This record gives sequence, C-alpha cells and structure tokens, in this order.
Amino acid sequence: MAGFRLSDRILSSSPSSTVGIADKVKRLRSQGEEVFDFSAGRAFEPTPDYVSEAAIVAMRAGDTHQTMAKGTASYRAACATKLQRENNVVANPEKEIIATMGAKQGLTISLLATINPGDEVIVEDPCFVSYKQTIHYLGGQAVTVPLRSELGWLWDANELEDSITAKTKVILLCTPQNPTGVVHSREYLETIANLAIKHNLVVITDEVYERTVWGENKHLNVATLPEMKARTITIMSLTKSFSMGGWRIGFIYTCEEIASQLEKLQQHLITSPNSFVQAGAERAFSLEPQQVVLDYWKEWETKVESFTDTLDAMDGINCYMPQGGFYAWADISSFGLSSEEFAARLLTENKVALVAGSSFGDQGEGYIRVTCVKTRKEVKGGLEAIRSFVSKLS
Ligand code: GLU
Repeated sequence: MAGFRLSDRILSSSPSSTVGIADKVKRLRSQGEEVFDFSAGRAFEPTPDYVSEAAIVAMRAGDTHQTMAKGTASYRAACATKLQRENNVVANPEKEIIATMGAKQGLTISLLATINPGDEVIVEDPCFVSYKQTIHYLGGQAVTVPLRSELGWLWDANELEDSITAKTKVILLCTPQNPTGVVHSREYLETIANLAIKHNLVVITDEVYERTVWGENKHLNVATLPEMKARTITIMSLTKSFSMGGWRIGFIYTCEEIASQLEKLQQHLITSPNSFVQAGAERAFSLEPQQVVLDYWKEWETKVESFTDTLDAMDGINCYMPQGGFYAWADISSFGLSSEEFAARLLTENKVALVAGSSFGDQGEGYIRVTCVKTRKEVKGGLEAIRSFVSKLS
C-alpha cells in the first residue's frame, strides 16, 4: 500500500448505480452468463446510418483535428436550427451554444461555472444518480427536496421555497424527469421560474429526454419563459433521441454571459469535443428527424407502454405509463424488501438487472427503475423472469 491518500472527494463518493450495474452486466455476459439488462437507459438500436455516414465522411476527409473549444461553427449552427425547429428557441450559435461531450460533461461545466465550494444546489429527490456526486466533486452541497408522489412526483412549491437559503445558487431540473418519467408543465415550470427570479438563482435544466415524450404530453424549455433566458443553462444531448450514447455528444444553450465562461472551461478541460463526432451530430440536427428516427421513437413509446402495463398487471407491483423517457418507475413496496434487496436478489436469482429506486434518493425507496427500450426478445424474457421472481415473493 502506497503511503498516500487519495482525495476525500473521491474516497467519499460511491460508484454510479446506472453505469456501474451496466458494466457489471457486461462483465457477467463476458463470463458467459445470460442476463436481462434493464439497468442503464440505453436503447439497443444503432445510430441511424445517415448520421454515422456523415461522421465517416468527415473522418475520411481529414476532419480529425481539434475544433474550436465551443465546437465547430457548423455543428453549433445545426444545434440552433434544431432549437428553432423543435423547441421554439431562437439561439445565436456564435454566442449562446457550446458543444459538449455528452450531457454529463455539460452538467460538470455548468456547475463549475455557477457554484463556489459550499454553495447549495437544489436537486429533486428522486433524481438522476450522478447529479449529487458531481455537485459533491465540485465542493458544492446538494440539497434534496422531495418530489411528492401524491402530487404526481412534483415539488410542493412551499417546500421548494423553504429549502432556499442564502447559499443557494442553482435549481437543477430534469424534464422529462429521470427516473419518474414526469414531463413538466408550463404552470409547474412557471412556479419554479418565479422562485428562481425572486431569489436570483440559476436554473440548470437537463433535457436529454426531450424528444422521447409520449402521448399528448409536450416538452417545454424553461428558458423560453419570461426573464429566464439570462438565468438558465439548458443541457441537451443526442444520446437518447438518436441512439448515440457511445458518441458522447450534446450541447448547452444559455445566455452569452454564461456561454463565454463555459468556453473558457472547455479550453482548459477538454480542448474541444471530438471533431468527426460533431460532424455526425450536425447531420442529425440539421435535417428534420428522418423516418428511421421517427420509427425508433414510435417503437420506444409502444415498448414503454406495453412494459409498464405488463409490470402493473403483476401482483404486488404498481406502475404507470410515464409521460416521457425510457423508464418504468414501479412501486414494489408491497413485497416488504428494500429496493436494494429487491434489485440484488432479482439479479442473483433471476438474472435481471435494473436500478434500485433508492439509488435516486430517499423518495425512491420502495421503487425500481426499469429501462424498457430493449430488444423485444430481451423485454419478453426479462418480464417473464421478473414475473417468476415476484411470484416467489408474494
Ligand atoms: N442516463 C442514463 C441512465 O440514467 C444512462 C446511464 C448514465 O449515463 O448514468 O440510466
């Protein structure tokens, strides 16, 4: 054992329960085990060819060097085109858009730009597993405010306001929400926006599921509300909507004042996002979503619906169709096991990997999060395995 001690911030943090479990599944499969993988939110469909082709062409054409730290002008222009076409947002691609290496890297620089050590960031409980850890790595303090299941997994506005202190800098939102699948309404976002304005806070909004919105639900970007553009950092990504998880590409849309600071962080921390990856993403955003992508979205909606219906029909499980996103958020509290025990036993005994609700926060205890967008074969086999597991419990 070497005589040094690694940093407290890393030693005191825990592994990611989404990526960690997905990695474990890969390891088990490499050892020949058959496992149904409903852990991380990864669709199995390949990136559409028209997108991959653009990256291959760029690479062959020698587009293999660093780009501007904030991304190529043409990728940022495509992001602006997409924002205007799909989000009702008019963004200046020179001054208000920063290309990022996926949403997590976008979140990291957004927090770096907004919080000092000791500052507080309000997060939802339950929320995506990496938010609290990232805030912790940066010396900030995550303040969790419960999403109330009785309110449809939303914040109680009074509770939210009561949690704001002199140290609060940021409200971190996610819509469609991971893990609950709630799509935030205009009225709800207005309540949060008004609090942000009243208390002079920044809103960071993670919108990686914005194209996977089901039924009549509509996605709304909080920066489009009055007075919000100057205090909102919007994080978007191609990972989910275009099945491009391995590309690690997304972007941030924010006001010029914040974007110029983010650009400096990019210069020091990553130099630039990958060049040919931006070329592929540019193609994805500059065109209307092509039929192949529309087919993916339709297929995912159908799968999420049939998956949640099947889970809900099992004795002891309560589950609803989410408004958006990839996940079934299922209440398993009737079995009397903790979420962790349920998830661990399900993996050991019936070879199904999913994420314990408690990994997302205290309010997630008694729930499991299940990724529905897998192959039909895996969905069928996995649901049978879950059925057989719960029938042993009841
Ligand atoms: N964001 C996805 C999830 O919640 C992918 C895993 C991850 O990046 O942590 O499962």
